[in-house]
Formats: sequence, structure tokens, C-alpha cells
Amino acid sequence: MSRRRQIYEGKAKILYEGPEPGTIIQYFKDDATAFNNQKKGTINGKGVLNNRISEHVFTLLGQIGIPTHFIRRLNMREQLVRQVEIVPVEVIVRNVAAGTLSKRLGIEEGTPLPRTILEYCYKDDALGDPMITDEHIACFGWASQDEMHEISDMAIRVNDFLSGLFAGIGIKLVDFKLEFGRVWDGDFSRIILADEISPDGCRLWDMKSNEKLDKDRFRRDLGGEVEAYQEVARRLGLMPDEGAGADTVLNFADAKKARGPE
Ligand code: 5GP
Repeated sequence: MSRRRQIYEGKAKILYEGPEPGTIIQYFKDDATAFNNQKKGTINGKGVLNNRISEHVFTLLGQIGIPTHFIRRLNMREQLVRQVEIVPVEVIVRNVAAGTLSKRLGIEEGTPLPRTILEYCYKDDALGDPMITDEHIACFGWASQDEMHEISDMAIRVNDFLSGLFAGIGIKLVDFKLEFGRVWDGDFSRIILADEISPDGCRLWDMKSNEKLDKDRFRRDLGGEVEAYQEVARRLGLMPDEGAGADTVLNFADAKKARGPE
């Protein structure tokens, strides 16, 4: 068996060359890091859950017309995606004050924001992903103005859709991080959504208890990391043994029987 060529190893994922040109395999690790790599650990089973959750979210976003890099899930830890030229700008979308916004501006965590805030960070681990503005992006040529319009429009659409999706399962979408990439068609390029969307890069709070169901459990030593990720997957109907698994069909048939002849 030939060995795959590793292209890149990040904090939570490894990228391998895909089976066809223009494709990449994303392998989801159990490794967890926080505070710019100063805290490191392992969350057993995290990679499997993030692979499944991100597959689900990207598939739904594709269905509402958001172009994404996702092609298909290959197995428990891997998915096939389109190769992109990553735009070195991380987009943070915030609906509720938390994390670095609360720290920076002295706003109590949990304060709802009167409007959604988009923030940009320069994607550079060595520099600790510093916050930047449109001015820096234009000045250093990290993305064109047209691309930034596309990126911010898409980020808002993703936020609207995901806020509703999570609200429907009793989860508040506090904030999250998105990454985008360019795909080339001859001399022309377009922007598509890349990376992953999972509890690693989102703040997800239970609507009733405000219990954290995301990586803050690891960052803040709260424990129960894997249980929190599992709970998100369960509410999304992704855990086969519980909730909306095979049972759904059974319940549907039972409900039909109970209704009697139509
Ligand atoms: P904050 O700036 O408050 O630390 O993070 C805001 C949101 O973006 C949080 O949901 C956080 O998980 C996500 N985020 C920001 N930077 C990163 C990053 O480098 N990696 C990941 N996985 N998430 C990030």
C-alpha cells in the first residue's frame, strides 16, 4: 500500500494529498490546544465527533447555497475536501459577548450584542492570530475588497442559518470562527468556505442553563469535554443510538399507525 503524502499538520487536523488533483483529505485529531498552543491536551474521540458535526453543518450550508470545500466524509476521522488557497484571515462572528471580546472591552460574558460583530484576525500561529482591520487586509494584499465583501456576506449568511439551526435544538450560538479559501478556474478565482465548523471553533451554550458545550470546557478546565461534544452531536441527531437515529423511521411508522387509515 502506498503511503499518502502529508501536506500539513495543524493543531487539530492533518491534511493529506487527496486521491484526485485538487482534492485534500482532512484527518481530525483528538489533540486539543488553547491559548496559542500554551495549553495542550487530548480529548478522546473529539476528532470523530468534529468530523461528523462538521460534515453535517457543511452539508446543510451547501444545501442553502453556500459554496464550501466539503466533498464527502470518507470514514470516522477523515473527509475529502477541495484544495483551496487559504485566505490568511480568520473571521470571528459574535452574537453574545464572550472570550477575548469580553476581556478586551470589559463587557460581561453572556451580554447579548445589539448587532452581530465581525472581527478579522491574521492567521499566523507564531504571532498569536492578531486582530486586524480591513485596512491591514488591503494594505498587505491578503484579500481583495471584492473578496472581503463576499467573505463578510457569507459569514453573515452562515451566522443566520447556524443561529437558527442551533436555537432549534436549545443551543445559543455565542460566537464562532470561519476560514475561507480561493479556488481557481483559469485566471479567475472565487471564495468558498473552508476548514471546519465544530465545537472546537464555536461557543455553544445550552439555552436554559448556559452550560458550555464547546472547547471552553478544555480551555477553562471545566471537564466533561467529550460529553459536551457528544451532546451537540446528539441534539443534531447524529448519534445513531439515541434521539433522531434509526428510531425516527420507527416512530414515524408508529405515529402513522396510531393515526389510523387516511
Ligand atoms: P475568542 O476571540 O473569544 O477567543 O474566540 C472567538 C471565537 O472564535 C470562539 O468561538 C473560538 O472558539 C473561535 N476561535 C478564535 N480563534 C480560534 C482558533 O485559532 N482556533 C479555533 N479552533 N477557534 C478559534
